[in-house]
Amino acid sequence: MKLFFTATQLAHSPKQYMVHGRIVDPFETPDRATTLIAALESVGLERAEPGDHGRAPILKVHAGHYIAFLEEAYARFMELPNHGPEVLPNVHPYRGASLAYADRGPPRVTGIIGRAGWYMGDMSCATMEGTFPAAYASAQTAIAGARDVLAGAAAAFSLCRPPGHHAYADRCSGFCYLNNAAVAAEVLAPKFPRIAIIDFDTHHGDGTQAIFYARGDVFYGSVHTDPSAYYPHFAGYADETGTGAGEGANMNLPLPFGADDAAFMAANVRLCERARSFGADALILSAGWDAHRDDPLSKLAVTTDAYARIGELYGRLGLPTLIVQEGGYSLPAVAAASHAFTRAFRNAHG
Ligand SMILES: [Zn+2]
Repeated sequence: MKLFFTATQLAHSPKQYMVHGRIVDPFETPDRATTLIAALESVGLERAEPGDHGRAPILKVHAGHYIAFLEEAYARFMELPNHGPEVLPNVHPYRGASLAYADRGPPRVTGIIGRAGWYMGDMSCATMEGTFPAAYASAQTAIAGARDVLAGAAAAFSLCRPPGHHAYADRCSGFCYLNNAAVAAEVLAPKFPRIAIIDFDTHHGDGTQAIFYARGDVFYGSVHTDPSAYYPHFAGYADETGTGAGEGANMNLPLPFGADDAAFMAANVRLCERARSFGADALILSAGWDAHRDDPLSKLAVTTDAYARIGELYGRLGLPTLIVQEGGYSLPAVAAASHAFTRAFRNAHG
């Protein structure tokens, strides 16, 4: 089983993140990737370079005008008088304020402050010189893993960093710029007509849900912390079940603060059963380790043992599987959980 990663993904290392009204050091650091590499190599995964498969797979998910923003935001921001060190938004549009443009059309605003407000959903996506190259490389890592599965690999691990599941078609948020799991799903789609994306990060994957919400060929299922007082706040509720052709192809299982291994396991069992009844012929796991009780963002009481148990659960599904790295912010918990999960997954998957 291959582990895809390339050093360009380390080039994103911003210094600012706003939480609870304070600018603090970001949690989503390059150390996470180096910790994951060591933990996963010790399970026996083989490092592989992703290569560059071009922009076309990314543009199946993301709007071209959004990619153009990500690519030039830092340079344009640096032209401002008295600019700060990184791009951060200080205006927050209500997207319904003008009916002059379609949902996915580019904004009419051309200045970098307005564009930053339009495309940046929150204050966790500070953008520096290395951000776009790292996000692009992270998406290429997802594409390479998907291509490995397309070529016949039973499973692959894409160590995507920065992560992706909060990224919308035309908006970054929650440390995420490009939706790696969604891009991978589009790469797999020509061979696998029914794809299940299961997301066990402790945050709901609002970007992934939105991208596939009206699609009947991609199931999105998530277990996460109840968003009513937790990020991403505005999505992740149990009554969000899809729309149009996608009705019934979306399943949210929010857990209350303090939920333990038994509750986490039961929700993962339900997601597994739903993927099976959906008729999935390939599986993408949005793998976050931040439900772990030792994670600085966690409100749950999940232990390392639960990750071994869900690794076995998803391995036993026996589907061609791509594991896509999402969150997880305690380095010891990330190492322990990813190791336990991947070892159990491999043993069960064969
Ligand atoms: Zn998370």
